[in-house]
Amino acid sequence: MVTAYVALGANLGDAHAALRRARAALDSGAHSRVIACSHIYKTPALGDDGVPMDPPSPDYLNAVLALETSLSAQDLLGFMQAIENAAGRQRPYRLAPRTLDLDLLRFGSLQSKQPNLTLPHPRMLSRAFVLLPLAEIAPEQVTPAELAAVQGQLIQRLGPLEPLTAAKD
Ligand code: ADP
Ligand code: MG
Repeated sequence: MVTAYVALGANLGDAHAALRRARAALDSGAHSRVIACSHIYKTPALGDDGVPMDPPSPDYLNAVLALETSLSAQDLLGFMQAIENAAGRQRPYRLAPRTLDLDLLRFGSLQSKQPNLTLPHPRMLSRAFVLLPLAEIAPEQVTPAELAAVQGQLIQRLGPLEPLTAAKD
């Protein structure tokens, strides 16, 4: 079994429901189990240069969860992409608003430079909406210097990312 960290994001449709469903889906296979889940964080949609998207794009909801999995890294990525597709993910252009984005941050200590799977995730260190929730559930995975480097970014911590329950959902 390997511990993997997955970043969840959504800014189209019911983003809160999308994150909750994604959590349930990631936990649904016999091969993978969610072992920790951060609160939900809200951030403005930003372009590569860190300035707000033009035309504006809805705010993002983000979270990070830890998975224990018996899948390979490539198979986990395939599983994540199937969950994105089932949530209606479309890719009309780069950084387009999305119903669900699942990024693999770390897969144990695996390093990979393949274009379809780069590990650790190449942009994770520049994003407060990844580092803050990751530090919440796995403080040893983020250094104080890495947190300090993103501390100027606008981000709001909301409530917990509740699991789906048969009674309410
Ligand atoms: P982004 O999340 O960068 O906005 P996408 O979700 O459309 O864009 O992903 C684009 C590509 O990034 C996918 O085809 C995927 O194979 C590749 N990719 C490379 N490394 C990773 C990773 N660590 N996690 C998720 N996708 C990755
Ligand atoms: Mg992605």
